Amino acid sequence: MARYIFVTGGVVSSLGKGLSSASLSYLLQSRGFKVRLRKLDPYLNVDPGTMSPFQHGEVFVTNDGAETDLDLGHYERFSGISTNKSDNITTGKIYNDVIKRERKGKYLGKTVQVIPHITNRIKEFIRNDISKEDFVICEIGGTVGDIESLPFLEAIRQFSNEFGRNNTLFIHLTLVPYMRASDEIKTKPTQHSVKELRSIGIQPDIIICRSERSIPLDQRKKISLFCNVSIQDVIETVDVKTIYEAPISFNKEKLDERVLKYFKIKSNKKVNLKPWVNITKLVLTTKRRVNIGIVGKYVELKDAYKSLDEALTHGGISNKLKVNLIRIESDKLKPSDIKKKLKDVSGILIPGGFGKRGTEGKIAAIKHARLKKIPFFGICFGMQMAIIEFARNMLNIKNATSSEFGSSKASVVGLIDEWKKDGKLMKGTKKDLGGTMRLGSYTARLKKDTKISKIYKTTVISERHRHRYEVNINYKDQFEKKGMIFSGLSPDNNLPEIIELRNHPWFIGVQFHPEFKSRPLLPHPLFSSFIEAANNYSKK
Ligand code: GLN
Repeated sequence: MARYIFVTGGVVSSLGKGLSSASLSYLLQSRGFKVRLRKLDPYLNVDPGTMSPFQHGEVFVTNDGAETDLDLGHYERFSGISTNKSDNITTGKIYNDVIKRERKGKYLGKTVQVIPHITNRIKEFIRNDISKEDFVICEIGGTVGDIESLPFLEAIRQFSNEFGRNNTLFIHLTLVPYMRASDEIKTKPTQHSVKELRSIGIQPDIIICRSERSIPLDQRKKISLFCNVSIQDVIETVDVKTIYEAPISFNKEKLDERVLKYFKIKSNKKVNLKPWVNITKLVLTTKRRVNIGIVGKYVELKDAYKSLDEALTHGGISNKLKVNLIRIESDKLKPSDIKKKLKDVSGILIPGGFGKRGTEGKIAAIKHARLKKIPFFGICFGMQMAIIEFARNMLNIKNATSSEFGSSKASVVGLIDEWKKDGKLMKGTKKDLGGTMRLGSYTARLKKDTKISKIYKTTVISERHRHRYEVNINYKDQFEKKGMIFSGLSPDNNLPEIIELRNHPWFIGVQFHPEFKSRPLLPHPLFSSFIEAANNYSKK
């Protein structure tokens, strides 16, 4: 039977609930348990797919094609378990669902209310699609005290009442600030946050205290006393130098041990922290570095390319070096500045993106990478831009463009309205923007003896997609004649999935997002190979 662990946050947002949940998952898995991680988001969007990365950071895509919160990326990277559509719900999704049912007359003429109808639906989602898991860790987005999170908190309170208090554990993560002026660690915000939680009927069982410095025994005692938890269940998490240290630090604080003790579960298996110890050591001590330039539209916001930044770091881990990311705002990148701005980089990456703004800067950067033989990696939009650059400068299609930027007679990249998934015909639309792209895992076949097939060491791959436009296959022969090979195609040969340049040390564009599948303990081969190529270039 699955036990449920609910993780809430207090005092401020961005305390690292996702990372704490993901680390706990690793520790429990390492002790031999099967774990599932879920995120319950209080915002009204049905999913984050329509939100700007400036607002909410990256949109993480699952294998089964859901556009989800970026915390699911943390979950996958630390636990190694692929998440699904059923692992992320939002207030929008719940209301959407309940209202649709109401319109169908499914509530037998009753008044539809937050309690019980919305809370019941939340509880159904929490238990949905769970079979052999030992633990389900559910993170509640937002901060206790927010109006939006109330139905979720009420639902998990009811859940524990119905499912059994012994089978449900509440973890509350709070901030314990350090006041420089008085040289003191303050517990009051935590006390208030727990008070708020208790006022809605939830007594936390474990309090994780995020702090700049270690919390002295006296302050721990105070938290234990005022918040009604045992002193061993006041767990500190002092800021770590690298996120890879998190599982080590939570284990040192006995988080996994306390969780098992709560549920009265025994485990003789020792936690294996070696992989994290090795990675932490490497990341903190390596002196070898390589500079990668990321030319994109959302570079100013750290979380906008979260999985990508992580995947590049993983590529560094497999080459035993540190990847230094140089973020270049494509909007401000004038062709005349290219040389200067890209002077110090040994690899250029153009990430996924939407819309025309900033594209000319990206195209100019690609031209520079192609001509100067600098390793180039184009992801999704980045591959489409590489196609446009090549069409303009090598095929002499001067007005080559994408139909994403308006109708044109030279759309080398065009809107796809139909494609196949597992033999079924799928249809795209631009009428509704939410969830209507080509989303999730699709198979591609790789051409033998190409760079890409050597990197993957296979000719059939499956990668996650998130796009509405596609390189026009009708141009294939023209491109290949000039040295740009379509080295990966969809199984029906209609959709170009990968392009590469014949006479270039490393110039690859992919229509999918390999970054979603890269993990610190299992770096994605494309990122390992790209960083290796950049490292070789830097030695020239
Ligand atoms: N805007 C492009 C498309 O929809 C690329 C999307 C992306 O980079 N994820 O096809």
